[in-house]
Amino acid sequence: MSNDSSPVDLQGTLIRFWGVRGSIPTPGPSTVRYGGNTTCVEFRTGGEIIVIDAGSGIRSLGGALLKESAGNPIALTLLNTHTHWDHIQGFPFFAPAFIKGNRIRVIGRKLQPDGLKSVFEKQMDGTRCFPVPFAVLGAGVDFQQVDDESGYHFQIGPVKVEACPTNHPGGCLAYAFETDHGRVVFLSDHETGGADEARILQFIKGARLLIADAQYDALEITSRRGWGHGSVDEVVDLAIRGGVGELYLFHHDPTHDDERIDSMLVQAREIAASLGSPLVIHGASEGGEIRL
Ligand SMILES: [Zn+2]
Ligand SMILES: [Zn+2]
Repeated sequence: MSNDSSPVDLQGTLIRFWGVRGSIPTPGPSTVRYGGNTTCVEFRTGGEIIVIDAGSGIRSLGGALLKESAGNPIALTLLNTHTHWDHIQGFPFFAPAFIKGNRIRVIGRKLQPDGLKSVFEKQMDGTRCFPVPFAVLGAGVDFQQVDDESGYHFQIGPVKVEACPTNHPGGCLAYAFETDHGRVVFLSDHETGGADEARILQFIKGARLLIADAQYDALEITSRRGWGHGSVDEVVDLAIRGGVGELYLFHHDPTHDDERIDSMLVQAREIAASLGSPLVIHGASEGGEIRL
C-alpha cells in the first residue's frame, strides 16, 4: 500500500486525533477548536494501522481510510481500552467494517462471562440499540482478549505493545508502544491517585509521549472520586515523576468548552514550571497530528 504519493509515511510514526472528548459527543461552536467527538486515536508505526478506541471520532477516520485505500483491502487493528459507550459508540458507523475483504482485528480486555465480542454484538443487535445487526458486517472482524493469564505483552506486526490495567470502574487497559522514536503511552480512562499508581508510574516510565486522561481540574475531582478519571494537576505530577517527555491532556470533559480547556492547559504548564520540570504539555485536539 505504501507508495511515494501516499499521504501517510508508513516508515515513521504518526498519531492522529479523531476524537479527544470523554463521556459523550459535544458538537457546537464552543467546542470547535478541541473537538466534540469521543475517543479515537489513529496510530501508524511499523507499517501498521492501529486504531485506539471506537468513539464517535472513528466515523471520520473510516472515511479517510476508504479514501486512502482507493478500493484496496484495508487491514487494521482496533485496540479497545474498555467498552464504555464513549469508546465503542462509533463502531457501527465505521464504514470499513461493512466492506468485504477488509480485516479488523479487535484487541481488548477479557470480559466475563460473555467476552469482548458480545458487547460489540449487543451494541449492534439489529433492533433495540441499532437497526443493523453485527452479523451483516462484510469485513472479517476477529476478537482477541488480553488478561493476566494471556500476558499483557503482544505484537501487532513488528510493533511491540504492552497493556496495563488502569484505575477505572469496570476496568480498562492502557497501552504502550515501542517505536523507533521512543515509548508512546495511551492512558485513558484512568483515575489518578489510586492504590495502583506505582504500577502505572512504572508503565509510563521514560515515555517520549504520554496521552493521558485529564478530565477534571483539582477542584472538580474532589466531588468525582471513584468516577475513574484523572485531574490535571495529578496527571502532570505523574508525568513528571515518570520522566515523560511530552504530555497530551486527553478525554476532555463534555462540560468544558474550548476556553476552559485552554485555562486547564495554562494551569498544567504552570504546575510543571513551578516544579522546574522540562515536561512539554499540550491539549489534545481533534484533527491534531503528531509525527515522530
Ligand atoms: Zn471514557
Ligand atoms: Zn470509561
